[in-house]
Parts: sequence; C-alpha cells; structure tokens
Amino acid sequence: MKKISRRNVLKLAAASGALLTAGKGMVGNALAGSVELAMGGRDFNPDTGKERKAVPTVCYSCVTRDPKIAFVEDGRVVKIEGQPNSIRSLGKICAKGQAGVNQVYFPDRILYPLKRAGKRGDGKYKRISWDEALTDLAARMKKLRDDGHPEKLMYHYGRAKGSSSSLPKTVFMGTYGSKTISGHTSICEGGKWVAQELTWGNHYDNWDFDNTDYVLNFGSGVLEAHTNHIPTAQRLVKAMVERNVPCITFDVRLSYTAAKSTKWEPVRPGTDLAVLLAMNNVIMQENLYDREAFTFIRTTEDVNAPLDEKIAALKKHLISYTPEWAEKISGVSAANIKKYAREFAKAKAACIISYRGLVAHYNGTDGERAAQMLGMITGNINSPGGRCKAVAPHWKYPKGPKVKPKGKQLKITNGTLSALPNHGECQSVLKMIKDGSHGRPDIYLWYCYNPVYVNGECQENIDVLSDEKLMPFTVTSNIVYDESSRLADLILPDTSYLERWDWDGNVAPTQQTEFELRQPVVTPLGECRNFSDILCDLAKRMEMPLGFDTMEEFVKLSCEMTPTVKDLPGGGFEYLKKHGVYHDPNEKPDFYSHKKIVKDADLKKEGILFDEATGVYWNWKKSKAKDEAEAMAKGYAKMAYSYKGYVGQKIGDKVYKGFKPDKVNKTGYFELYSTILKEKGFEPFPSWKAIPEHQELTKNQLTLTTYKVPVQIHSRSTHCKWLTEMFHDNPAWINSKTAASLGIKDGDLVKLTSKIGEISIKAYVNEMIVPGSIAISYHLGRTESGRYGSGKKSIMGSDNDPDLKLKWWDTYGVHPNWLIANAPDPISGQHRWMDEVVTVSKA
Ligand code: SF4
Repeated sequence: MKKISRRNVLKLAAASGALLTAGKGMVGNALAGSVELAMGGRDFNPDTGKERKAVPTVCYSCVTRDPKIAFVEDGRVVKIEGQPNSIRSLGKICAKGQAGVNQVYFPDRILYPLKRAGKRGDGKYKRISWDEALTDLAARMKKLRDDGHPEKLMYHYGRAKGSSSSLPKTVFMGTYGSKTISGHTSICEGGKWVAQELTWGNHYDNWDFDNTDYVLNFGSGVLEAHTNHIPTAQRLVKAMVERNVPCITFDVRLSYTAAKSTKWEPVRPGTDLAVLLAMNNVIMQENLYDREAFTFIRTTEDVNAPLDEKIAALKKHLISYTPEWAEKISGVSAANIKKYAREFAKAKAACIISYRGLVAHYNGTDGERAAQMLGMITGNINSPGGRCKAVAPHWKYPKGPKVKPKGKQLKITNGTLSALPNHGECQSVLKMIKDGSHGRPDIYLWYCYNPVYVNGECQENIDVLSDEKLMPFTVTSNIVYDESSRLADLILPDTSYLERWDWDGNVAPTQQTEFELRQPVVTPLGECRNFSDILCDLAKRMEMPLGFDTMEEFVKLSCEMTPTVKDLPGGGFEYLKKHGVYHDPNEKPDFYSHKKIVKDADLKKEGILFDEATGVYWNWKKSKAKDEAEAMAKGYAKMAYSYKGYVGQKIGDKVYKGFKPDKVNKTGYFELYSTILKEKGFEPFPSWKAIPEHQELTKNQLTLTTYKVPVQIHSRSTHCKWLTEMFHDNPAWINSKTAASLGIKDGDLVKLTSKIGEISIKAYVNEMIVPGSIAISYHLGRTESGRYGSGKKSIMGSDNDPDLKLKWWDTYGVHPNWLIANAPDPISGQHRWMDEVVTVSKA
C-alpha cells in the first residue's frame, strides 16, 4: 500500500483543490485547514493527483444492495465509496462494500469454463471453451425438454435479487417450462416473511429510526449485518447519539449491536417469544394499548366483532403470560419486562425490530407474530417512528414469449415437514433428492449458492451431490471454486457484481422509492460471463427465443417499461447509467396505507365480489376459479389464490385498503387471530411453544447459537483478503460459569457432538453469553475458498497477487453447520439455526 505523505497530500490538494471524501455532512476543513473536504463522488490518485474515473453502481456484497461509486484507474477498479445521492445509504458503505475490489481481483478466481476430468469430487478439471461448455449443456437441457420432462432441470439459487433473480427464474425457467426452482429464503429469514404474511400481508419491514423515540430489538444484529444494513444502522446510531433514543437488545450473546445498545438483556435461546407474550400481556391488562388501532386488528373468528369484544378476546388469550412466568422461562426479570412494555407503549413513537435471533427457532414464526402484535396494539405499525410495511421499487421487465409451456415441477422444494413453506424449504432439497420419492433432477444447476456449506448437515449434502446415480449432471456458475463447485461437472466462470448489468433496489428507510442500476465498472476478467448472459446464450442454442439477447438489453428494456424510470430525462437507462440512482423528491413517505379508503369505482369493476364471511372485496378473475359460480361457492377464504384479487376490507360501513394479503388468503385485517393457522392445526393466536429439544438437557449439553460478524458475508467473502485479514478465527463462546462446570478453560480445544456430527474448536470463555449456551459464528471453516479463505490454492489459482506474500494468518476457523440438522420450523419451514443441542467436552 502507498504511504500518503504530507507532501503527497499537499500535492494532491494543489492538483485538485479539494480532498474528496464520502458521505454527506463532511463538508469542512481538515488537516488544520490546509485541505478542504467536500462531498463524495470524485477521487484522485494520491501520487499524481489525477482524477479517477467514477462509475456509479450498486453493491452486491450483501442483500442490502447499497448504491455506490467505483473508481477506476488504468482499467482497474481501485476504490469504492458510497453514492452520496442515495436516500437509502446517504453515501455510506461498510467494510464488505469496500472490499468489493477483492471480489474482482483475487488470485484463486475461476476465469475459464471447466469440465470435470475425474471422479466427481476428485477436484480434477480441464479447461474447455465456452462453445464446448454451452453446446453440451444446451443439448442436455434441450433433450429433457424435448422428452417432455423439463421439470428434471432444477435451478437452485442463493442471493439472487433484482434482475439477477427475475431473468433466470421467471423468464428463462418460465420459457423453458420447469418450475423445479428453489431459493434460499428458508435458511435466511423465511420464518419472518411467513409471520408477516399471516399478519399484515407481504413481507419486508422498514424500521423508521429517523422518527422513533424508543427501540426494542429481539435478535437483530442491526449494527453488524441486516437485510437493510447500512441504511438502518446509521439511522439507529444517529437516533441514539443525537436524540438519546433508548435501544434495548434481547440476545443470547453480547453482539456488537447489544454492546452499543442502551441495555443488553441476555435471554435464553428460543425464549424471546415468552418475553414478547408477557410484554403484550402487560400492555393489554394495564390498558396501555391504542384502542383505535384495534379497528384494523382481527382477534376473533367473527370479522365484524365490535372493538370491546376484540380487546377482551386478546386480553383473555394473553392473561396467563405474566412477566413472572416469562422470567422463569427466559431469564429476563419480570420487573424489566414490565418496565420495557410500559415504556414502549407510552413512547410517542416506538419501533419493534427483530431478526434471526427471534425467528430461526422451532417457535420462530410465532415469535415474529408476537413482535408484530406488540407494534400493532400500541399503534406503532405503518406509522412515523414505527415498524412499517416496506416501500421498494417495482420494476417492470420483459417476461419472454407470450405463449409459454405449462410449467412442470418436481415436488422437492418445500420439504414435507412444514405447514406453510411459502418460501420453500431449501435446506431439505438435497434430502428430498436422496429420498427420491418425489423424483430427482437430471440436471442440478445452482447459482450464487453453496449448497454444501450454507445448509445444515454438510456431510449429507456432500454425499448427495457426489452421487452420480442421484444426480447425473451438476453445473454451477461461480466466481469462486468453493465446497460445492468442487462437486460440479461443469463450472462456468461468472462475473463479479462489478462487471455486470442489473436493475435493482431495496427498502428505503424513508418510506420512499429509490431505483438503482448496477453497471459494469470494468471489463470482466479472463473469460468470465454474467450468468444471465449465459442463460440468454443457452436459450438461443435451444432455439427458445426470450425476446432479448443479453442482460444489458434486458435491463435497458426494463428501464423503458418501468413507470417513473422510463420518463427520466434522456431515458431511464441513460439517466441511471449516469447517476446510478433515482428517487422522486416529491414522493410523500408512505405511512398509514392501511387506513386509505377504497374508491367506490374500484368496488364496481368487473369480477369484484363481496365475501360476507370475511368482509373482503375481491376480484375472482385473479384467482384460480374457473367461473364466478365456483368463486361464490368456495368463497374468498377457500378459493385458491383468491388473495391475488384482494381489493379491500369492509370495516363498519367503510371499505379500507387494509393490510393487503400476499401468499395466503387472509383478510385485510392485521390478523393476530389466524384462521389459516387454526385450520392447519396450530393455535390461531401467537402462543408459547417451548423448544422440545431444550427441555431435558444434561449438564454437558448446551444449545448452539450461530451468528454473523460485520466483516464477512455468509459464504461469499473469505476469498477477500481485506476481510479475512480482519476475521479468520472463530473460537466458540462459552459462559465462564458453564465452562467451569465442565472443566474447560479459555483457549482449550473442545469437542462438540450433535446428533449428526462432531467438530473440535477452541473455547473462548467469557461473560458475554448466557450460561448453558455455546456460540459459533458462520463464515469460516472453509475447505475451499482459495488461499486467503482456506489456505488452499484453487485449481485455477495464479500467483499474480503481490499481497500473497504478505498474508500472515494460517487459521481459517471452524464451520458449525457440520453439527446442525436440517430441521424446519413446523409453520414456515424456516431453518432452525439456533436450536441444535450439542454435547461439549474437552477434546
Ligand atoms: S451493507 Fe451490504 S450492500 Fe451495503 S455496503 Fe455493506 S456489503 Fe454492500
């Protein structure tokens, strides 16, 4: 790295007149007034003072997808900073975003198509041409389709969002005719999504920290990693620092977020639900609830129940969940439960936030429903300063040919153990393939996903993927030779996100819409090609026209089709190429959308029916009903996909937009009482369910908790030298009392055994975790991630990175997923990351 001397700084200042830095609010003088700071967006070579080329793009290191600016010098991306014009990120990015440079340039990157040249899993490959690779793959795909079995092509994707999700999933697979598609949501936040679909409709919540006065956090690492990390983290910090907003964090361990909170409340694993039920109870019994909010809440079978009846029903349900009862279960004192409940209810604006600490449990869906309850009964839903239904851009895009085949599907994507796997059960896919009773794919294609490593039961994943009898052909597109690529018959070198096109966007913390464009910052290295471009090429080879030939064309057409974007000066595509982001400065923040009245004219449109039983107005033509008679006979609740035709909810003599359903036929009320769950055999109200496996533990059995750190990205970053230099070891956290009772000292090697596997790991004995638990982070313990991440040179590794000589670490951590069984939450299918019981002893 070049040293920035005083002389260089002065030279730079002279050359540019300004030293530019990232972020708003940075205008001012630095270095005792010798250099002027200015807004970000420009950058200079520190030696020559020459301005670098600035290319607006969008981060894809994590799902947040912050707009940013990449700086290019001599055709090489050298630096990344935030996009100062973004209303989401306000010009800031995190360490992972800056290390995007490493996602392009790492010495073990896959740069050419590779074909297996030995037994599957031997790690022997030969370089082949693109033509050879795609001719072979297209012929295999075409044969399946021509034989009438398109469903035997399975597409399994991980962190694919925006156009990188729509083109492969909707357009390519839709045109091909296979619905054998699985995402990764159930190993991420599926339980949260399903709980939100059951209560207020579609998923994704926004936390309005700019306007809040009080925050309760159940299991979110909002300051270290989150689906909307940088936009929310900076606003929470600002609220806490500038306005003294309290933030109380409930977590099994002292996460970075807990450490920065006003108070860390240690809670036993899987018991947050008890605390939430007790808080709701305090608010109801002490009449601290918002009476008007109950207009829009459902707590009874009868959708027309008067307010007092609704309130009484909820009081009755909650009454046994006392703070004293919750204290015994959770370890959180009854006095504090009461205190926080009262403070939350009395705050002018309060925000309940949650994530996997609450949700990735056996009782996670009800945990999230109870969190939703707390927000709603206090009037802190869809309100300034509260938890709001997210606002995000709606891109329109070309969907491929008008006439498509009726899609066929292997029933292997939803598992068999959960009632409402609205977002699949991806951790069970390989198990289902092993079982075989629902069929098996002939071609298993995965993208942006590492099935061996990111699901539980690593060994079973390896066994299934290695078995050529179970799956004759395996193919992936990747930038990294990882644990799963090693089991692919064909590896197609993907572009990094800084070398490709995408339209994108995510939740705006201001309740407004921001459109984003990702564009290539540099030419792809080697022979790398964007996965979506590969699919366009395959479609052509199969004589299956999609209506466009490249991802760039797809993105351009989308810009021409999408309202707001298409009307931007010079055309949306050109505008976004130049500016990177767009938001309408006149767009009002979207609050209280559920209180809007439906226009009379909208109730009189063709196909609209009124359903007496639920009070819902709906358009039967958008459901699966073959005619109006069938729709009427079955009614809104029973007709398949009737939620797609939802128009409004009759409450009293008015029809409100209400809480529009998604994925399930719920009413337009905020449903705290769910007839959908009742019919599936679950309690209709959020109710206490103990984690079965945690009830009778022996002295050396601990519950395993997993967590993320701020400087690594799931399984997609250990090849990034800047990040792995900071985090490359992950000893297991054990409370000092628990450790003493097991004779374990700090630094001891300990053996952890679960019902499916065993690992050895160093113990980190401390006071920052509740007794009886053990915590291991994700990210590490990689067996294939190149030299920076696993110490192993990949099959295509080169020695052209001078920093290889400076690499000083030789530890790569331990992966907890060898221990964690692929078990779902019985409601949503969410993977139970935080429930595994392990037996611990000195190794
Ligand atoms: S939070 Fe995510 S999207 Fe934003 S800069 Fe960091 S890694 Fe990139």
